[in-house]
Amino acid sequence: MSKGKVIKSQMLGATQKLKNEMGRHYLAIEQAYREGKPIAWATSGTPVELLYAMDVQPSLPENSATISAAQKYSQNFIEVAEDAGYSYDLCSYFKTNMGVTLTETTDLGKGGIRKPTFMLSSDVICDTHVDWFQVQAERFKVPHFTIDVPHVVSNTTNKQKEYYKKYVIEQLWEFLDFMSDILGHEMDMEKAREVANNSWDLSMVWQDIYKLRKNIPSPVSTKDTFGGLFPLFTMPGLKTPIKLYKRMYKEAKQRVDNGVGALEQENYRLMFEGIPFWYNLKFFNFLEQWGAIIVYEPYTYSFSKFMNPDITKDMLVNNPVECMAELMLSFWYIYDLKTRIQKFEETVEEYSIDGVILHNNMSCRPNSCGQYDLKKHLVDDYDIPCLIIDSDMNDPRKMNSTQVTNKIESFIELLRERKKK
Ligand code: SF4
Repeated sequence: MSKGKVIKSQMLGATQKLKNEMGRHYLAIEQAYREGKPIAWATSGTPVELLYAMDVQPSLPENSATISAAQKYSQNFIEVAEDAGYSYDLCSYFKTNMGVTLTETTDLGKGGIRKPTFMLSSDVICDTHVDWFQVQAERFKVPHFTIDVPHVVSNTTNKQKEYYKKYVIEQLWEFLDFMSDILGHEMDMEKAREVANNSWDLSMVWQDIYKLRKNIPSPVSTKDTFGGLFPLFTMPGLKTPIKLYKRMYKEAKQRVDNGVGALEQENYRLMFEGIPFWYNLKFFNFLEQWGAIIVYEPYTYSFSKFMNPDITKDMLVNNPVECMAELMLSFWYIYDLKTRIQKFEETVEEYSIDGVILHNNMSCRPNSCGQYDLKKHLVDDYDIPCLIIDSDMNDPRKMNSTQVTNKIESFIELLRERKKK
């Protein structure tokens, strides 16, 4: 199959400032550690806002693990963890973090991490988070709090939903007591409101940036979203990332107004489902030789957590704890298959998507589970072309580049034939 000339997508100028923003975050962790201020490890999907509201510096091991991968250190850390007895099949974020701590790596540029004061996990996305932090909390001898979040499925009744809501709200109040015991102070409600307000604003600008991707050509590519998502889960509640997102929005809007796309020539619009391969982000540039651009990733969108239409900004600011609980129950990533199929179908329509690439992630069974059924329904019921590729987000040993390349080439060929009709 012939390829076009290599056309590189243009990252937004504002996205390049992301490094500084994340640099400030790591500096804050380092400073807190050196000054003996409280630091909490938190898993994604937890209400990090409550940590900021209690003046605790969050540190997210998953985020550090992506740095290890991007800087080509993750395989080494994963192998250290496997040598210590952790299975080849376990989540590679967990093993990267385990390798980092077993080697006592604190260099943040390699994905190193500092010992926390306590840990916060939740099973909202996966059970691995809870087991992972349990193991690490025992190693570090620090307290660990976990939030259990029941999954709402298609036949969950309103009565059950109400019960779930109360159950999660109670746990969040217990978590605040847990922190008060450690820190010796209560949460300042005014500060909690301010943090909630900032978190809302951050998410809304992110959603606005996303909406611009509906335009043809799309002004934003994965070069902006894969890195751009990090402030959403490491800094929800701070003001500075909002400014950065607003700059990204402004620049993307200018592109739309001038009919300019991230890619010079846009031929195919794709959706990518799953966590990207952080050690091989070049893969996404590889698509560009055919004028193919990814215009939607459920993964990067899902971290904009304020998507529940029943929650307004006023409600959140007035009742941050209760609303946080409700939002944990409506996280994109815990949708059941039926809801997922429906969301995919709607998104394909809204974003004029030509095809969907699903990442069957060997590390992440919760995310990959049901993908073959999802594909079957999208193809058979909605005539949406789908491709499943097998790989792993942090373990380069699990990516067969030749196989993935061949599959992608055939998929693009299929899309090309469909366009001709
Ligand atoms: S990659 Fe998947 S299994 Fe691993 S921590 Fe994330 S959600 Fe859990």
